Amino acid sequence: MGDDPASRVYVNNKKKACADLGIYSEEYALPAETTEEELLDLIKTLNKKNDISGVLVQLPLPKHINEKTVLDTIDPKKDVDAFHPVNVGKIMVGDFDFVPCTPAGVMELIKESGIDVAGKDCVVVGRSNIVGKPQAMLLLHKNGTVTICHSKTADLAEKTRKADILVAAVGIPNFIKGDMIKPGAVVIDVGINRVAEKKLVGDVDFEEAEKVAGAITPVPGGVGPMTIAMLMRNTLKAAELNNTKGEK
Ligand code: NAD
Repeated sequence: MGDDPASRVYVNNKKKACADLGIYSEEYALPAETTEEELLDLIKTLNKKNDISGVLVQLPLPKHINEKTVLDTIDPKKDVDAFHPVNVGKIMVGDFDFVPCTPAGVMELIKESGIDVAGKDCVVVGRSNIVGKPQAMLLLHKNGTVTICHSKTADLAEKTRKADILVAAVGIPNFIKGDMIKPGAVVIDVGINRVAEKKLVGDVDFEEAEKVAGAITPVPGGVGPMTIAMLMRNTLKAAELNNTKGEK
């Protein structure tokens, strides 16, 4: 909804990923003045459509729309972003169909790099419902010892310096400096911050951090593409759950 330029880029990337994989997709680009009721009606219609496996609402929404009401309206079985409270609860108990795409992408990067989370000190900086909280839960499920830091954390650097695995999801450009990182640590940068017309940087000061870290993800090109890959994985899962695979 509306014309957020970052949302436009994200939606285009998601549509392209669908097209590349042969997943049918529909986009509803609603004007900013659309009412909440109209948006909810559209979601309810898509919930019922047999040829649609997954529904996602690109955030942020305009201020007159209650984000929670919107996310709560998506059928949990079609909730490919995993933001519905039913799916959030399932993640908490460790019995889930969908995992929020960004934290799932981080876990996949860790796994594919041959890094074992069990017993490691993991520090997640950021406690949003979209990234920080589910990230902490997924690391916990893999037997990491997890600390969640946020805007009110005292002595942040003291905490981050203890991390064997450090995940930054803060939204402040170059926030994590080299001296906040334990030598040899795995550093995963979720941040995407636009600092100039065509320049994106992460939450980690890459130049400083790469000298200290044992492994580090770049921005762009690290967690971002993984997020989209995980959305595609959730969509396939949704097709299986809803028995809609191949019906279109
Ligand atoms: P958010 O604004 O909802 O949350 C930011 C978190 O950072 C908050 O929990 C806050 O407590 C914490 N924080 C703020 N200032 C802090 C400080 N000084 N010290 C410690 N913690 C502090 O953001 P979000 O949605 O979690 O996103 C975080 C970043 O990740 C953004 O840059 C966003 O663009 C990016 N992001 C990337 C992807 C991707 O696909 N790579 C997906 C989602 C978000």
